[in-house]
Amino acid sequence: MKTEAVIIGGGPVGLMLASELALAGVKTCVIERLKETVPYSKALVLHPRTLELLAMRGILERFLAEGTKLSAGHFSMLDARLDFSVLDSKQNYSLLLPQADTERLLEEYAAGLGAEIVRGTEVLAVTQHENGVQTVLQDGSGIRTIDSIYAVGADGAGSIVRKQAGIAFPGTDATMTGTLGDAALKNPPESAFFSVCGQQGAAVIVPLPDGLYRVIIVSPHLPQKRKDEPVTENELKKELRRICGTDFGLSDPVWMSRFGNAQRQADRYRSGRILVAGDAAHIHFPAGGQGLNAGLQDAVNLGWKLASQIKDEAPPHLLDSYHEERHRAGEDILRNTEVQTRLIDFTDSGLALRDTVSALLAFPESNRYIAGKISALDVHYEPDPDMPPHVLNGKRLPDMELILQDGRAVRLYDFLRKGAFVLLSLRESIPADFDTGRVAAVRAFLSETRADWQNVHTVLIRPDGHVAWAADVLKTDAEEVVLAGMKRWGLKS
Ligand SMILES: Cc1cc2nc3c(=O)[nH]c(=O)nc-3n(C[C@H](O)[C@H](O)[C@H](O)COP(=O)(O)OP(=O)(O)OC[C@H]3O[C@@H](n4cnc5c(N)ncnc54)[C@H](O)[C@@H]3O)c2cc1C
Repeated sequence: MKTEAVIIGGGPVGLMLASELALAGVKTCVIERLKETVPYSKALVLHPRTLELLAMRGILERFLAEGTKLSAGHFSMLDARLDFSVLDSKQNYSLLLPQADTERLLEEYAAGLGAEIVRGTEVLAVTQHENGVQTVLQDGSGIRTIDSIYAVGADGAGSIVRKQAGIAFPGTDATMTGTLGDAALKNPPESAFFSVCGQQGAAVIVPLPDGLYRVIIVSPHLPQKRKDEPVTENELKKELRRICGTDFGLSDPVWMSRFGNAQRQADRYRSGRILVAGDAAHIHFPAGGQGLNAGLQDAVNLGWKLASQIKDEAPPHLLDSYHEERHRAGEDILRNTEVQTRLIDFTDSGLALRDTVSALLAFPESNRYIAGKISALDVHYEPDPDMPPHVLNGKRLPDMELILQDGRAVRLYDFLRKGAFVLLSLRESIPADFDTGRVAAVRAFLSETRADWQNVHTVLIRPDGHVAWAADVLKTDAEEVVLAGMKRWGLKS
């Protein structure tokens, strides 16, 4: 069997990557061990940058229709809530949507675009050679192989792909475990996001869409447990009573589990023709709900780069920039989750520190700084060193309103639906030959004044919504910069 790209693992990250590759016209096959998606959800929240990416591809409404918008997030379960509404984005909110629903919606989208999703099949081995990758699979009917040009491991924390590619996963083991349970509560707390932290431990309670509640507990009274040690209903109730003074009438848990603060990151996200993404590339304490979001952002960073590499259209180093850009973003998440873990301290001085940080978060600039991190809206990539410097280079763009030459108002993200580059000129019409299947050429101006945009002549926007480069109108050679920029990014011969 032959295909262009094989993705090992049909969790959220593998499915998102499959849809990006299929959108770019790459023959893609996802191999997933499980026959059906797991009904229980680790992740519950999609954050603003992920929602922007879904909006760019025109599928955000499908997710909004099933989730609940939240304008606030949290940092280390502190009393002060993070206010996302001040962030510069049309998607300046989070979405409460269980991971199982996110996966179902992504699977429908990927399959609709033509990606092949093979369930009930386990990958046993992945080996690369000069011209491709061979993946060994096992299903009910036996063992077979599949050949591809590239393979991506989106197979979670224990990734067999990462191990077989010889990619190291340095980091630290868990020193702390939390407990969770999805259960009925006879007397639930009134607040939609209930959290308590004191000398007896920390508890968070969030309503789930099906009338149940997610109870999360981190307790100093529980010795550090192995992640696979079963949680009991009694343990949850006892800890709730100790921390909150009531067990809220907890009963009928449908899923109980433990999670830890092990943190590791792949030292390379690429080894030749094999790449890793999502939990296969980074794991950390699930503080602030960032792991799945980061993985989906990996997938959208990688998809268009891998597609152009497979089609032989990629400029040199484009595929390597996946590691450079997303490893740095991953490091930042590991750092902020470590800080959040350190803040979960039930000693007197630890609780005093929490109160102080919580008070600091009430200041608008502190809120903006931390909310920028948790939302991932502050992620920007290194500017292209071979292009003239511009403040916009490498930055993400929000879904700005544009006014076309005929006076029509449109949104920037409408031009990113097909996963092509957008060449946006604010000053002059773009030569017709720049408008190709890979580039949408747009002549428009911004409907609002933005400081960074005042002298912009033309901007090349990447398929993931980041600025590849911007040419300044003050430069007399702006047209030459545009031409050189198009050649450098492999969009013009
Ligand atoms: C308690 C908890 C709460 C969390 N809350 C949040 C949150 O609110 N927000 C957030 O962003 N993140 C959260 N996370 C993290 C999030 O769940 C993970 O980051 C996310 O599941 C990673 O997705 P993935 O696709 O990379 O990996 P996975 O979800 O692990 O998927 C990997 C897939 O690969 C398959 N697979 C593995 N090996 C093979 C093989 N050899 N052959 C074939 N298939 C294979 C598996 O069956 C699986 O389906 C939370 C995690 C925990 C533990």
